[in-house]
Amino acid sequence: MVKTLDQGSHLVLENFIGGEFVPCDRHIDSYDPSTGEVYCKVPDSGPEEVEAAVNAAKKAFPEWSSRSPEQRAQILHKLADLIEERVLDFAQAESRDQGKTVTFARNVDIPRSAYNFRFFASSVLHHTTECSQMDHLGCLNYTVRCPVGVAGLISPWNLPLYLLTWKIAPAIASGNTVVAKPSEMTSVTAWMMCQLMQKAGVPPGVVNIVFGTGPRAGDALVGHPDVPLVSFTGSTLTAQKITERCAPYCKKLSLELGGKNPAIIFADADLEQCIETTVRSSFSNQGEICLCTSRIYVERSIYQSFLEKFVAAARKWKTGAPSDDSNNNGALISKEHLEKVRSFVALARSEGGTVHCGEGVDQLDLPEANAKGYYMPATVISGVSDSSKVMQEEIFGPVTCVSPFDTEDEAVAKGNGVRYGLAATVWSRDVGKVHRMAKRLQAGLVWANCWMVRDLNLPLVA
Ligand code: NAD
Repeated sequence: MVKTLDQGSHLVLENFIGGEFVPCDRHIDSYDPSTGEVYCKVPDSGPEEVEAAVNAAKKAFPEWSSRSPEQRAQILHKLADLIEERVLDFAQAESRDQGKTVTFARNVDIPRSAYNFRFFASSVLHHTTECSQMDHLGCLNYTVRCPVGVAGLISPWNLPLYLLTWKIAPAIASGNTVVAKPSEMTSVTAWMMCQLMQKAGVPPGVVNIVFGTGPRAGDALVGHPDVPLVSFTGSTLTAQKITERCAPYCKKLSLELGGKNPAIIFADADLEQCIETTVRSSFSNQGEICLCTSRIYVERSIYQSFLEKFVAAARKWKTGAPSDDSNNNGALISKEHLEKVRSFVALARSEGGTVHCGEGVDQLDLPEANAKGYYMPATVISGVSDSSKVMQEEIFGPVTCVSPFDTEDEAVAKGNGVRYGLAATVWSRDVGKVHRMAKRLQAGLVWANCWMVRDLNLPLVA
């Protein structure tokens, strides 16, 4: 039985090390973003707790890595089953911890978390390797895939269980053991998942979760000499620090970082579908998805009509209490983050941009209980120069900027004119144009006439 949130008192989390819950005597306050109140105490782990978790993972590695892929796959499927049985519990907990709507967590975060285990459980059954021949020497040369050891996994707050399981699943499916550290702001669903490990048959020490801040627990984990593999999702600034920590050991390092993703909309696009999807791609999860659209470039001949229709659709994107099914967005993650996102809107205004709807234009009608939560309505801006900080830096909130372009070359230049290159979206009915744009846009992932379609076979997916 998964413990769920006790609405009346603080929830106190414990680390999960060697298959056991281990209390910690230091804690960090964790806020419910929908009310602005502290509701949970998260362990403030440090090097000592990380050391214990790495030792447990090292101890579990020889036995786990020697199991067959089929044996490991069965356990991953069982874990997926157990998460799916409790979708609503997990969705409500994710919503309370992160501020997102229960609906979004129930439809996106939690099903995708379970699917992460299913996908990698299946994929390890189909690993093959190519070989090259040297007939003149009588040699066949081939590559063998082997588990590496203890993987250190660090995840962010925006899609907490979804991104954490996306790291744990491939690591353990391949025979590694893990020590994971979720964001200190959103630790609850990871802790709930630990309660399912024994029932799923995950041996003690295969999955260890240490809660705490980046500078203490995170730094101790990525800098640990017995953690040869580090996978991180988060901000570029933190990635730079982690890269420096890993460099002396030449660790295997995977980094998934920020974005400033363009949507490029040509005049021949299916405008109705494009507007509906672009509102979703700009504002889903309060705009707190690394793949959210943040710059919308529209071919000039349809620019005015697009802008009017887009603003009208954005105004219908409802923000309010996360538990209310009629809302599209809930609260942003924290007061500090809300202030940061607001500061970008203020900057756009001070630079002569027009704020068409949202922040400072539309009032939110919040229930009394949510009055101190961190809410911001869907905001659309135009008239900001491409060199502005508003167009160059990741905002990570429900804010998007619209701007016209005249030619395909100009659209490419604008799309590529930032230091990020995570994702892009192209809207056109011309197949040739779509393929040309996909090739020329410097983004890890280019969607055509859609957004957030997920295929885990690709190297970068949602
Ligand atoms: P963050 O970099 O502040 O924190 C991410 C994680 O790193 C947290 O668990 C944090 O505790 C930890 N951390 C912080 N400092 C650390 C250190 N010195 N050593 C080790 N760990 C440390 O990012 P965030 O604010 O939690 O998340 C938002 C960012 O994540 C955005 O930039 C967003 O674009 C990015 N993101 C990227 C993807 C992707 O797949 N590309 C997905 C989601 C989020």
